[in-house]
Amino acid sequence: MEIIDVRKQLARHPSKEYSKRTLESSIKYLVIHHSATLGGDAFSFARYHVNSLDWPGIGYHYVILEDGTIQWTNDLNVTSYHVKGYNSQSIGICLVGDFTIEILRTEQKAAARELIRNLLDRLELGIDAVKGHNEFVGSATACPALDMETLRQFLNMEQVEVYLNNKKLNISAELKNGATYVAIRPLGEVLGFEVEWDSERNRVYLIKDDILEQVQQESNYYLSIINNIKKIISEV
Ligand SMILES: [Zn+2]
Repeated sequence: MEIIDVRKQLARHPSKEYSKRTLESSIKYLVIHHSATLGGDAFSFARYHVNSLDWPGIGYHYVILEDGTIQWTNDLNVTSYHVKGYNSQSIGICLVGDFTIEILRTEQKAAARELIRNLLDRLELGIDAVKGHNEFVGSATACPALDMETLRQFLNMEQVEVYLNNKKLNISAELKNGATYVAIRPLGEVLGFEVEWDSERNRVYLIKDDILEQVQQESNYYLSIINNIKKIISEV
């Protein structure tokens, strides 16, 4: 997880300041937002919040960029503006993107999971503390335009590291209902296969030196590790 501390580098209001709270005891929610922009980062959002909205500083505590980099933007004890009526009880996490028209990127999802699990641990909160902005009563917004139930399930899944011949692979796997799932494309590519997706037949082809291996799709994205691949993987 790469967290870049940009707290002191962001645009700030010349005279206004956010109020502060006692830390852990008062925080009940981690609120997920999307930026509703195509691109941007903590710097541009801070300028917008300060210059256009006349806020004391950026509204979010963390911004997760499209490549999964996390920008730390406010101390957790800062009561910033991001969810009306609940600011004093919550931490704001903004995922860059407009999820009414694009999908959440794998890197962002992975970064969000690490950050959020970390915060939940630290604040001694359960997964139900993670809310979408639009799940709060009175918030007339589509933000974050994500299926929060699915996202919470993703955040809650146990992560598994994948090793090949004692070397850790830069791919993630998940435990779900007692089975280990791994995304087939990164795994195939790490193993030197070309991965092709046939959406008409719902089939994945792993191609290497004229050898064609075909595996049946089990879900849109994750495939249960098939037996012959399983042999070369050990979990830790
Ligand atoms: Zn929002």
